[in-house]
Amino acid sequence: MKVSNQNNQTVPFTTLAPLYERHNEEYDQAALRVLRSGWYIMGPELEAFEKEFATYTNSSCCIGVNSGLDALTLSLRALGIGQGDEVIVQANTYIATVLAITENGAKPVFVEPDEFYGINVDLVEGAITRNTKAIMAVHLYGQSCDMDPLTAISKQHGIPVIEDCAQSHGATYKGKMTGTFGMCGCFSFYPTKNLGAFGDAGALITNDTDLADKLKTLRNYGSKIKYRNEITGVNSRLDELQAALLRVRLKHLDEILAERENIAQAYLKGINNPRICLPQIRGDASHTWHQFVVQCENRNALQAWLQERGIQTQIHYPIPPHLSEAYARLKYTKGAFPITEHLADTVLSLPLYFGMAPEDIQYVIDTINEFRP
Ligand SMILES: *Cc1c(COP(=O)(O)O)cnc(C)c1O
Repeated sequence: MKVSNQNNQTVPFTTLAPLYERHNEEYDQAALRVLRSGWYIMGPELEAFEKEFATYTNSSCCIGVNSGLDALTLSLRALGIGQGDEVIVQANTYIATVLAITENGAKPVFVEPDEFYGINVDLVEGAITRNTKAIMAVHLYGQSCDMDPLTAISKQHGIPVIEDCAQSHGATYKGKMTGTFGMCGCFSFYPTKNLGAFGDAGALITNDTDLADKLKTLRNYGSKIKYRNEITGVNSRLDELQAALLRVRLKHLDEILAERENIAQAYLKGINNPRICLPQIRGDASHTWHQFVVQCENRNALQAWLQERGIQTQIHYPIPPHLSEAYARLKYTKGAFPITEHLADTVLSLPLYFGMAPEDIQYVIDTINEFRP
């Protein structure tokens, strides 16, 4: 069988090299500036990135940390959430969202997603108990959750919303940036994210200056003044090298998102195989296409069909957190969250990356349209 596109090459699921290559001189200069400065942790690059990312997201404070998981974990810790507390979270998310809850000793209370893969807001009130201390909204795949009704529930019950923005950099809901609706927004800059660093990095944004102050203390051993430790904190800092490189990437984020949008539009227009369900787009939000996720009842056959023809795909995510080995102690069995579990069996993420060649995009479309299980 001919396993190729016109160039006789595999279409990878993703590749990061073009992101560097398109602006390599700017990245080189930023890295050299840090290497030559002799200052590598908590310096002017971090301060500048925090300012620039706060401006980009239209929020008043940004706090750089070591990863997206740390951003999520510290957000709950800063709000004093721990043992005996419950946190409502959608069942279909990356396990990091749930780890942030259990890491603090709190209990995840899962709810099913809506048709846009975000938390189903209609199910949230039914999950609230007297122990509920936070609601986590995951803007999965780059599209915002339904924030207006969620914010209304949050206000009515006095329960803060924490936004997992690890996949939604630059994504908006009714024109407002994700991460600015709740108490805080938690970002990951893991290299494959739409705003990616060259290593691990993360950040929180918030308009609450007291919370920002607490987070800044927490991330640096619980101290603002060296060797004066007010609280028991952690070591979770965004280093100068990553901050300097992220400043360059942030400058080009809109260009990156525009290119992803073009590829997504080509898929939406071109894919017409009735066996494939295309992603649904909210009318009131932008989609930044961290993942382009289709659904197919013969998902495994589709994935194999594409693989045989040189097209790599991924599944986000094949095992929902409530069924993962790591959470066996929560004692969930199959059937607990049927919508989420059905998604785990039917979703497939297509290749979509900055610098993807037009002929590769067309090859993916044609190969999917030819699919017969
Ligand atoms: C990537 C991701 C995280 C974790 O980010 P890291 O920087 O890898 O720790 C958390 N939540 C979601 C939804 C993610 O996609």
